[in-house]
Amino acid sequence: MTNKIDIQSLIRPNVAKMKPYSSARDEFKNFDSEMIFLDANENPFETNVNRYPDPQQRQLKGILSKQKSIATNQILLGNGSDEVLDLIFRAFCEPAKDNIITLPPTYGMYGVLANLNDIENREVLLDSDFQPNWDEISKTADMRTKLLFICSPNNPTGNLIAAEKIEWLLKNYNGLVVVDEAYIDFANAESWIYKLDEFPNLIITQTLSKAYGLAGIRLGLCFASAEIISVLNKIKPPYNINELTQQSAIEQLRNTGKIKNDLSSLKEEKESLLKALVQVNFIERTFPTDANFILIKVDDAEKRYSQLLENGIVVRNRSSQPLCENSLRITIGTNSENTKLINTLKTLK
Ligand SMILES: *Cc1c(COP(=O)(O)O)cnc(C)c1O
Repeated sequence: MTNKIDIQSLIRPNVAKMKPYSSARDEFKNFDSEMIFLDANENPFETNVNRYPDPQQRQLKGILSKQKSIATNQILLGNGSDEVLDLIFRAFCEPAKDNIITLPPTYGMYGVLANLNDIENREVLLDSDFQPNWDEISKTADMRTKLLFICSPNNPTGNLIAAEKIEWLLKNYNGLVVVDEAYIDFANAESWIYKLDEFPNLIITQTLSKAYGLAGIRLGLCFASAEIISVLNKIKPPYNINELTQQSAIEQLRNTGKIKNDLSSLKEEKESLLKALVQVNFIERTFPTDANFILIKVDDAEKRYSQLLENGIVVRNRSSQPLCENSLRITIGTNSENTKLINTLKTLK
């Protein structure tokens, strides 16, 4: 059974009616050939960035299309995933009328963006294994529930959401399912990208901020049907990905050797950190993780957080999140950073 979903009926009416703004660079399609550009009021003297960037980032999308085996018209790029997520809200959620479902404990930006866009955020807690509770989700969703956010691997818990749960939700829920795969490159699992043809209501977000080591350039990726991507494309700011970001992403994406090396060394570091953490007496639990961080439960999170800070180590206290009482989230660092962390933890009284 595949979900027969009419994407057009989910789009906000004002967005459905909108004609896209056409920038100077949009109107001139033949971007690569030698032309004299007197159309955008730019400064003609060369600085490497005196021209507006390609609004459709064709070269960059060409590389991503090959690497991810997906058509370029199924890719949208944003100024970080945060912009991508915001565009999804603005395309589909009518302020003060529509609602979304999020599954705490999870990434805080979904709630922040819901708030910003005046969209009700209906929270359905994950169960004690940090997996979605589908009975509760079904009861909570109504005709105005446009989006369901699933973060897999989940932040801050680190676990993957079970594939059969995601599949069930894709088939049974009548809105769009956003699967946030910010940490997918660290996981022992396939991306949902390969299921896009099967599920017309699936949107996947990824980022170059984590595994690719490019948090500073702000580049978020979105993959969905060509129909959904064209709606998001229509409302995005024309030049949302700046020239320096495009250039540096192209350079780094070609450097597949570095990314592979980083990933395997972080994986090794994670394994040895996990082994070392269980030997620290005030750490009551380390949660299994498919990401580049580890959630731990301690005796007193506030106290341990401050002690680490006094020793020059900053971790994230996630205790305010449901199901995360006395929990700290620790990012995997370099070998020497992790060694310092372990040595410090062992000395704490
Ligand atoms: C870090 C993170 C992101 C990345 O956001 P960017 O804006 O692309 O840096 C997205 N989702 C989750 C769950 C994250 O933890």
